[in-house]
Amino acid sequence: MGPLTTPPALPPAPPETPIGYVSPRDQSSKQFGGVSSGSGDGNILTQLAGNPFFTAGFGLAGLGAVLALAQRGVRQGAALLRRRLLVDLEISRNDESYQWFLHWMSQYQRAQISGTSVLASERAKLDGGGATTIMKDEKPSILTSIIKKLTPGLHHLSIQTSKINNPNGSLNTHFSLIPGPGRHILRYKNTFLSVHRVRESKALDLQTGTPWETVTLTTLYSHRHIFESLFTEAHQLAMQLQEGKTIIFTAWGTEWRAFGQPRRKRPLESVVLDKGIAEQIVRDVKDFLGSSEWYSSRGIPYRRGYLLHGPPGSGKSSFIQALASTLDYNISLLNLSERGLTDDRLNHLLTNTPARTIILLEDIDAAFTTRRTQTSSDGYRGANVTFSGLLNALDGVASAEERIVFLTTNHVHRLDPALVRPGRVDMSVHLGYATRWQIERLWGRFYGEDLDPGGEGKRRFLGRLEEVGLVSREGEEGEGAVSTAALQGLFLFHKGDVEGAVAGVEGLVGGERGD
Ligand code: ADP
Repeated sequence: MGPLTTPPALPPAPPETPIGYVSPRDQSSKQFGGVSSGSGDGNILTQLAGNPFFTAGFGLAGLGAVLALAQRGVRQGAALLRRRLLVDLEISRNDESYQWFLHWMSQYQRAQISGTSVLASERAKLDGGGATTIMKDEKPSILTSIIKKLTPGLHHLSIQTSKINNPNGSLNTHFSLIPGPGRHILRYKNTFLSVHRVRESKALDLQTGTPWETVTLTTLYSHRHIFESLFTEAHQLAMQLQEGKTIIFTAWGTEWRAFGQPRRKRPLESVVLDKGIAEQIVRDVKDFLGSSEWYSSRGIPYRRGYLLHGPPGSGKSSFIQALASTLDYNISLLNLSERGLTDDRLNHLLTNTPARTIILLEDIDAAFTTRRTQTSSDGYRGANVTFSGLLNALDGVASAEERIVFLTTNHVHRLDPALVRPGRVDMSVHLGYATRWQIERLWGRFYGEDLDPGGEGKRRFLGRLEEVGLVSREGEEGEGAVSTAALQGLFLFHKGDVEGAVAGVEGLVGGERGD
């Protein structure tokens, strides 16, 4: 028997890494070194799982994805919540309620400070005859200052300026502060309301060329009913401002917009035309307004045209304003010389006037002053409107509603016969220089019995006018040579002073009869 052979000694066990750390180098050689022992290292997944860098990276990516998802979820959740809880209301600039709302909002803030309701404060202002002016620094009570703190209110404001020509020739400028672009918070009927006024920098209102604007109101869905009461209030406020007033609309692009604040109604008696003339026109207009059946049964366009002609200051515009007041109508005023007014725009404007308005085309001759030098096949060229364009527009002025068109001119002889033919102008009235009859009435309006007992001053005044040739002789008919506007100016200058007015006749000489 041979000696027992001892089995060969096992190779020494590799030294253990003291703290089980495998250096990256080792790791990589194990994985990719090609010397894979293939013995006892487990599969690749196990290796990956055992790789802290890999797991850290994977973990981070996973975390990122989860966060992104969560963010999206939160956003969608918020949007859903917003949809569920909040309600938006958008008003665009060309909606009628846009201006009402902005005005209401500025007044609301003001009323909050003074502790009254918007309508009451506006009414008080109207009663006091005051204009909408810049907010004064009123001293708020503790309660109102708390409310003020709770409702941050209007910190961005815009100013809206409007000018009003008073019948006496003076000019009133009104300022109103309205909420400017940006976000505002209001507290209305125990709920908060976000008002976001946005002015687009890129989009333009094609009709007016002004930046497009919207106002978005946001409140809690459960409080959506406040919109109704808010807009009712805003509408009432707007109506209150117009009550007893005449609105003058002017053209803005292809639409009509109220120009300035509504004007106080002018009584018909305040415009002194020659004997019977005002009554004759009023009768004719009223008769026309009551004849819609007559027109429709005969298939005749329901419109009527009037031409008032005469020297400047004879009361043409004032009379139309007084007539509108009497009929409770507004006025749509259009200047034919306006740049950019094309035939199409004119046509569109005249067929789309606001309801219950008198269309007034002032100084109709001025738009076609170049007609003698510049005649084209399609008619006479004015600034932009052609003469034939005007005729077409006037003929097209017909709709289910009545249309009353007034044309005025200081130079009737310059008008083309085609313009004043019946159908376009149905009634032509001359308002001339003041007659004796008118002067007596005008005098009476300024110097009544108390200032001029028995009319002795009036006789002397007329006597002086006769001497200087500004009025026809007593007993003679016809107009003189001084305008009613000039007389009114003199009487205003010598308010309450009969002697001053008589002595002032001198100053009237040579001032008129320019045409
Ligand atoms: P026109 O349009 O004929 O040029 P306006 O109506 O603009 O004249 O009148 C200018 C000013 O003169 C106004 O302030 C107006 O009140 C006054 N006025 C002119 N004519 C009259 C008149 N007949 N009666 C009362 N006021 C008149």
